[in-house]
Amino acid sequence: MSTPTITVAYGDGIGPEIMRSVLTIIEKAGADMNVDCIDIGEKLYKKGLKAGIEPASWDVIRRNKVFLKAPITTPQGTGVKSLNVTLRKSLGLYANIRPCRSYYPFVQTKHPEMDVVIVRENEEDTYGGIEHRQTYEVYQCLKLITLPGTEKIVRHAFEYARVNNRKKVTCFTKDNIMKLTDGLFHRLFSTVAEEYPDIKAENMIVDIGAARLADSPEQFDVIVMPNLYGDIVSDIAAQISGSVGLAGSANIGERCAMFEAIHGSAPDIAGQNSANPSGLLMASTMMLAHIGQPRIAERVHNAWLKTIEEGIHTPDIYDSAHSTRQVTTGEFTESVVKFLDNKPDRLEPAVYPDVAKMMNVELSLSRGEKKPSLISKRELKGVDVFVYWEPGDPEELAAVLQQASTRLFFLKMFTNRGTKVWPDGVDETFCTDHWRCRFLTEQNSISNRDIVELLSSLAANNLDIIKTENLYEFDGERAYSLGQGE
Ligand code: NAD
Repeated sequence: MSTPTITVAYGDGIGPEIMRSVLTIIEKAGADMNVDCIDIGEKLYKKGLKAGIEPASWDVIRRNKVFLKAPITTPQGTGVKSLNVTLRKSLGLYANIRPCRSYYPFVQTKHPEMDVVIVRENEEDTYGGIEHRQTYEVYQCLKLITLPGTEKIVRHAFEYARVNNRKKVTCFTKDNIMKLTDGLFHRLFSTVAEEYPDIKAENMIVDIGAARLADSPEQFDVIVMPNLYGDIVSDIAAQISGSVGLAGSANIGERCAMFEAIHGSAPDIAGQNSANPSGLLMASTMMLAHIGQPRIAERVHNAWLKTIEEGIHTPDIYDSAHSTRQVTTGEFTESVVKFLDNKPDRLEPAVYPDVAKMMNVELSLSRGEKKPSLISKRELKGVDVFVYWEPGDPEELAAVLQQASTRLFFLKMFTNRGTKVWPDGVDETFCTDHWRCRFLTEQNSISNRDIVELLSSLAANNLDIIKTENLYEFDGERAYSLGQGE
């Protein structure tokens, strides 16, 4: 196999210190790779590049396909999009893998038995960043969950479990409330799980799931979930394992992958030679496995475990009762290098499978011959028209809507913040200036042209239309949610 070239960004704050440490360790361990360096982050923002990256660096990242990235400082405030989110989405890095393990008794934690891997969907959900202010009082953020996006992440979770000899995959969703979006995630999870009878599959509502994880993480093995829950739950998992400073993460796509620590650039301790390089080091071992060098990954990981076991700790994890020496970043690096031929005595040694060769995340449910969204019959049955209307008597709005409706449609109901307020609303329901008005038809099917006619009639009656959502049935099944109380 030819020597791979990886892209490296030294980042901001403590980034350069921990990146130097990590590259020293993996090079001494025998990593076979060339390095292409690029600048990202603060330096570029200061030059006025709002993306935090030069266009030419994108070519480097795309050419090399594997990116080891130190943390960067994101300027606060307007006009700057998160470079991390841009990288993940532009490169199609759909899976965020974050192993969270405790190293008790060497690093203090309330959960000595914890060994959990969070598999977070990385591109969809509310992270599309599609937001609008619609009225004076109401703002919205769109939550998009797709069939192929969900199938990919769920398959990835099961493949990860199989390849890494894990026994169980738990799915976290909130499908008791979001029956369509989270319902799809849960449903595909159950369908894909049938292809992995050797792995136990369970589903939990995310709130109780997160509570159980925080209380008894030893019950969990691999957990897969949509983006927003994953963002929150993976930080909780890393924190309760002992320290957010110890966890690395892998962002995996079909063509590219990016590896990073989960912590930020820690500007408060930058340049002091006291930062803990462990998070980025754990990311680098995942990278080594990804580029087909799992034995080197094990060598580095085991030397690191031995260093932790020996009580050689940077200030962030040092405590006089369990550590033997408080060391600088440089001294920590030297210790790991010194232990490269050692294994830990008490902690379980690391084992890395050759992930790159074994994973198979081919989509069979959402793409290819069986693609259900193409097979099923889609019929347009009505439209939700969102209008701006000062909070007031629903009967008045109903009268205007009914008068403005065209002959093909009837006003089924309207809601305010999702709760039905007409017909048969109750006075106690709090209303804003944002009304969702549902028009249905008795016809078998209608066309977009019919909807445009309805809208034009509503507009002619001075209704202030914010947006519309078409109401479909797929194979005769309603594909939109009911109003709360409908
Ligand atoms: P942070 O993770 O940088 O720091 C939080 C605290 O943890 C600080 O006290 C810091 O000193 C400490 N800490 C973090 N990493 C450490 C390490 N390796 N060794 C020792 N101590 C460590 O979070 P923050 O202060 O909220 O963010 C600082 C900057 O980092 C912000 O600009 C933020 O946007 C950015 N950030 C970047 C990334 C990334 O690039 N992936 C991730 C998170 C935050």
